[in-house]
Amino acid sequence: MTAIAVTTTIFEYMSAKAAASGAINLGQGFPDSCGPPSVRQAAAKAVLDGPHHYPRMRGTDSLRAALAGFYADTQRLHYDSATDIVVTSGATEALASAILALVEPGDGVIVIEPAYDAYGPLVRRAGGKVLPLRLHPPHWRLTGDALEAVAGNARVILVNDPANPTGRMLDADERAALRDVALAHDLIVIADEVWEEVRPDQRLHVSLAADPALDGRVVKIGSAGKIFELTGWKIGWAMAAAPLAARVAATHQYLTFTSSPALQQAIAHGLDTERLWLGTMRKQVEAGRTRLAQGLSEAGYAVLPSAATWFLCVDLAASGIPLSDRQFCDTIVERFGVAGIPVSAFYEGEGAPANVVRFCHAKAEPTVDAAINRLATARKAMA
Ligand code: PMP
Repeated sequence: MTAIAVTTTIFEYMSAKAAASGAINLGQGFPDSCGPPSVRQAAAKAVLDGPHHYPRMRGTDSLRAALAGFYADTQRLHYDSATDIVVTSGATEALASAILALVEPGDGVIVIEPAYDAYGPLVRRAGGKVLPLRLHPPHWRLTGDALEAVAGNARVILVNDPANPTGRMLDADERAALRDVALAHDLIVIADEVWEEVRPDQRLHVSLAADPALDGRVVKIGSAGKIFELTGWKIGWAMAAAPLAARVAATHQYLTFTSSPALQQAIAHGLDTERLWLGTMRKQVEAGRTRLAQGLSEAGYAVLPSAATWFLCVDLAASGIPLSDRQFCDTIVERFGVAGIPVSAFYEGEGAPANVVRFCHAKAEPTVDAAINRLATARKAMA
């Protein structure tokens, strides 16, 4: 049996470099803020008072009920809390459970690049074959033709919307193209929608699971870490029609089996009672995005459009910087005190676009301003 190569992720690598040099870390995606106080209080109370022992394998009753209510209200999705929801240790474990449950050895899995870095390794660990579909800057648009070109041998498609690292939200044409290809090739859709709440306040997220034509074939994945700015808590979930959810649950029970009951309880409280906080959070994230985009544009960077997530990207070539994304990221963290992430790390294999860098803008204003100043100095030195 051939070993599957395990390498340090670009996020670990850049965060370690940022920590070693005291750089401002706009690399790894985590915000400066940390969730509604009432959610943290609920967690603290539950840590003291209990429950302390293994919760139900599919998640606490309160969290599954809260998730069913939240998605019915916010996205008109109807999940039965008893049969359709599996709470996991972060979205990463939901992805692992779904991929290990649904991908059989030899199955083709369409991975849309730039892709979240766990997808490829998990597909290979399940014995599947990655069928990459590369999107290109600056628009990163997905077309029916591109989907058709890779769908012939596919069983599963992984879709991330809104997307990390591009910050894009799929439009209606792209969703229709995904639906058509999923139906034509009888695909299961794993819809990684962890960024669903981190988007402009007025622009609602439309889940692939909301399309009635895709009934019974979508596993929708979410993360409390993104919704409530609590990335370290690692509470996530997978939701699907009962037969699919049962397969995901069967895998989950031999991965982590369950996750901290105190944190599940606190997230249930948040989903039930902190809907207004979400609007405030969105406006704050938007302000950070605008601040970093404006500052970098004024400093001469070509900033690519970004609507959602905590990220925005810059195009180095269009900014007059003759370095690859990896060279640029090494240079700015070592010499100018700012960490970013090269977007080529979100592609596998040769020939990926190597001129785009991702920055996390979900930081306090003084941090964003200091990063802009340093990146302005960097561009003057490099362009
Ligand atoms: N999917 C995507 C697209 C992500 O950006 C992330 C986190 N950055 C995850 C999944 C993992 O989420 P979690 O931290 O809840 O495991």
